[in-house]
Amino acid sequence: MASHNQSLDELPAATLKGAGAQTLKRLEKLGITTVGDLLFHLPLRYEDRTHVTPIGHLKPGDHALLEGRIELAEILPKGRRSLIVRIGDGTGFLDLRFFHYTAKQREQLARGKRLGCYGEVRSGYAGLEMTHPDYKVIDDAETEVSEQALTPVYPLTEGVHQKAIRRLTAQALSLADATRLPELLPDTLIPPASRLQLLDALRLLHQPPPGCGEASPRLAAARSRLAFEELLGHHLSLSRFRAKMQAHRAPLMHTNREAANQFLRSLPFSLTAAQCRVISEIETDLASSRPMMRLVQGDVGSGKTVVAAHAALTALSSNYQVGIMAPTELLAEQHFRNFRQWLEPFGVHIAFLSGRLKGEARKTELEAISRGTAGIVIGTHALFQEQVVFHRLGLVIIDEQHRFGVHQRLALREKGLQDGLYPHQLIMTATPIPRTLAMLGYADLDLSVIDERPPGRTPVKTTVAPTSRRADIVARITDWVSRGRQAYWVCTLIEESEVLQCEAAEKTAVTLAEALPDVRVALIHGRLKPAEKEAVMQAFKERHFDLLVATTVIEVGVDVPNASLMIIENAERLGLAQLHQLRGRVGRGPGEAHCVLLYLPPLSETAKQRLGILRDSDDGFVIAEKDLELRGPGELLGTRQTGQIQFRIADLSRDGHLLDAVAQAAAVLFRDYPDRAERLIRRWVGHSVQYAGA
Ligand code: ADP
Ligand code: MG
Repeated sequence: MASHNQSLDELPAATLKGAGAQTLKRLEKLGITTVGDLLFHLPLRYEDRTHVTPIGHLKPGDHALLEGRIELAEILPKGRRSLIVRIGDGTGFLDLRFFHYTAKQREQLARGKRLGCYGEVRSGYAGLEMTHPDYKVIDDAETEVSEQALTPVYPLTEGVHQKAIRRLTAQALSLADATRLPELLPDTLIPPASRLQLLDALRLLHQPPPGCGEASPRLAAARSRLAFEELLGHHLSLSRFRAKMQAHRAPLMHTNREAANQFLRSLPFSLTAAQCRVISEIETDLASSRPMMRLVQGDVGSGKTVVAAHAALTALSSNYQVGIMAPTELLAEQHFRNFRQWLEPFGVHIAFLSGRLKGEARKTELEAISRGTAGIVIGTHALFQEQVVFHRLGLVIIDEQHRFGVHQRLALREKGLQDGLYPHQLIMTATPIPRTLAMLGYADLDLSVIDERPPGRTPVKTTVAPTSRRADIVARITDWVSRGRQAYWVCTLIEESEVLQCEAAEKTAVTLAEALPDVRVALIHGRLKPAEKEAVMQAFKERHFDLLVATTVIEVGVDVPNASLMIIENAERLGLAQLHQLRGRVGRGPGEAHCVLLYLPPLSETAKQRLGILRDSDDGFVIAEKDLELRGPGELLGTRQTGQIQFRIADLSRDGHLLDAVAQAAAVLFRDYPDRAERLIRRWVGHSVQYAGA
């Protein structure tokens, strides 16, 4: 079936012997469809079956290979019915215990047979035991029980057994040679510490020689060799994508100085130096005919919105429309208010679009957008919908981009394609991007950082407390409120279910109102209508309420300086980035600010450390770096939600140091070996969605 020189990168796993339809379907769940994929699916750890241990030397807790003869096999009806097989080797005996077994096994495991078995030794009723060991009946003709190499243990999915995946991988390895799995990296491009040939690295990792355990430096070098190649594949893919984008043309935009100055004078504050710097970086981009692709990163409260408004004004002055997308209705509404206040004096009509806008009102907005009478359109992801046709979209602004996937951002960009011109893109995020990730996950973007906060902010004092202290904390609210201050109480839930979250908030609002008769309690959650949410926020802002019970809808965009106590329930369930973002709602005015992170014990060691990071730091960047160390990059950026890069082998907290060499190698490959670059992209990124086809 398989052609003899087809590359293993392309050869379907189905061509392997013993790969049944069920197994193939299950392997697909692990991302394995080709023989090459199987080879890049590395073992998690190894078992040492390279030598036989005499039974007399075993102690509980050992993992060992042993060999012996069956002295006795019987079914014990006592306790849980089980099959006990006693084996001896002259140095001692040990019981194998099977809680379930087939008739065939029962027959196979008969007195006098020779067995080799591997498993964990425990102490049982009658001495040492192994439960459900891996075993093999040995013919008396056979002499070798032990294996030549360490035995790999692979990450599995339900229904695929180690034995099956070991067999398939061994077959795949036997097919691999320099023609079918070619070396694509010139030696000199590989960092010296991991300079192995691809095939040698793979053989070493799948079948390490005796004595070469998980922690061995040779295996580390082999792993690093593969991680390097994988990172390189992704880097090449992103760079190619970026180059493609930069070949497009974008509208030229120039800031109208007079208007810009009038706008800045109308603000009740002056810009920070960091804001000024980022504004001028954006101006330079907009004045170029290449589409801007700029990510503005600034911690919560660093003042990104006004930077975005300045960019919008430049687009408007150049007669282009601006689309602004926010991840939640609440934030979109807040932007709508701000932008109206800031930019309507310039005669701009601002349209608002959300999923909930229906009927006539929606039609009117859509018309204003397509006719071009609306200069700015603010909305949630409703902006992507097909009915939305822009007249002359020149600038797309995406706020809190960590909530959107790469493809969503690209979709909005495509919408603006007119007369061969692509709109400029400005992306804003509070999620700090550690350097290592910035180099990869966002390699298609230019980065600006607002690394300074507006003056007059109060540091937030954060405490971590178990739910057993809830009553104390509730009591503290009365005292707080009697001093004229306001507070938030945030309810979270582990499920992503908005309905459950809202119900929890409703209940909490009732119990808090009962417990605190002198405190005026308001409630806000995602199921309220936009106008209702707006009314609650406005009333809270105007101090008609003291305590706002909320779901995580208030995570972004809520700005009430007098509210500077926040209690977050079940804090252990949220990511650090999200907690930091929530906490950013307080400390926006004068006077002390507090945040209490309530958790439900018991907390794991890691969970304790994570909350500790938040208690000890108020710097989003520090928090992100520490979080990365503790948890790995995927969770930090919410990989799962947003479809960022998922690696098969590389782990940025371990392999991040390779990235400089990766960037250099990528440049050389594109210049000197373009066809190898393409093959590397195909090998490592392949069909995977976001960058390749964009
Ligand atoms: P974020 O970066 O989190 O989106 P915002 O843009 O919402 O922050 O700004 C937070 C608050 O700080 C807003 O009330 C905004 O008006 C205010 N602000 C922005 N820039 C400055 C500044 N330079 N000086 C004082 N206040 C500022
Ligand atoms: Mg913001």
